[in-house]
Amino acid sequence: MFKFTSIWLRGAKEFGSQASRTSKASMRWASTYKRFNNTKSSSNILQDPTYRKYAAGVLGLGGVFYVTHLEEAPVTGRRRFIWSTEGLEKWVGDRSYRQVLAENRGHILPPHHPLSVKVSNVFEKILKVSPIDESHLDWKVHIVNDPRAPPNAFVLPGGKVFVFSSILNICQNDDGLATVLSHEFAHQLARHTGENLSKTPIYAALGIFLYALTGADFFNSLLINTIIKMPASRAMETEADYIGLMLMSEACYDPNESYKLWERMANWEKGRGVHQPEFMSTHPGTETRIQNMRSWLPEAEERRAKSHCGQFTSFYDFGRGREIF
Ligand SMILES: [Zn+2]
Repeated sequence: MFKFTSIWLRGAKEFGSQASRTSKASMRWASTYKRFNNTKSSSNILQDPTYRKYAAGVLGLGGVFYVTHLEEAPVTGRRRFIWSTEGLEKWVGDRSYRQVLAENRGHILPPHHPLSVKVSNVFEKILKVSPIDESHLDWKVHIVNDPRAPPNAFVLPGGKVFVFSSILNICQNDDGLATVLSHEFAHQLARHTGENLSKTPIYAALGIFLYALTGADFFNSLLINTIIKMPASRAMETEADYIGLMLMSEACYDPNESYKLWERMANWEKGRGVHQPEFMSTHPGTETRIQNMRSWLPEAEERRAKSHCGQFTSFYDFGRGREIF
């Protein structure tokens, strides 16, 4: 099934599974506590003044920590909670990078391969219009030449981009390619990995709290996933789509190709019977993405116009359909 399953999600999943293990251990502790200390139910605990004092203190400190770690995402200005450091994100990225390289050994095209050069050139142009200088990162774009792999692309925190060869047919041209690459770049620019890492302890704490209340692990996981985690992930994917579209337009790529790429993707999905309800997915549905891209086009065109991309158009016209340069 195709999705832009970015590795930051994979990293977060690993991190999340560790947190999940921790929370499960805590839940086991909680169930043991309940079994051997039957004199106090959760409602009794809530009525205990000492417990309530500590709970208020923890909540108060947590609230201050939350408010002082809110910052704006670039381009969209969305306020989000981030406490993780770029060093931690890089550590997660480096660890995943080694793993992905090992998994795809023998399928990665060399850097001098014409396809690698072409994709890297498009990526370079997007990097140049970034509102935050990200050139200090060790950027590398890898093409995974594996026809069996579904069309996909992802970025690792720290600047490693992987593009699977099967998505190149769906990209069809540089503008389509810019749509994919700018989306991946936007994840790094907006530090979505950091945002995910920052939320992981909150999800774990919420899981423990709900388990203490209901004692139902499966139901709580489903609740947290569908009500909190997946909508948050879809919001970040939509943000990456938006930022990506603005950046590719500024880099003089045709924004109209973005929704056309997603139309081609929709056809690919239909051809393979790929369908997943949006509310059960970490990514927005393809139809939603097409609608979003179309609605953002006027703004994207405006950004493109400000970049004076068409200043050499007349030279093309003089050439009667042939490019002079
Ligand atoms: Zn993505």
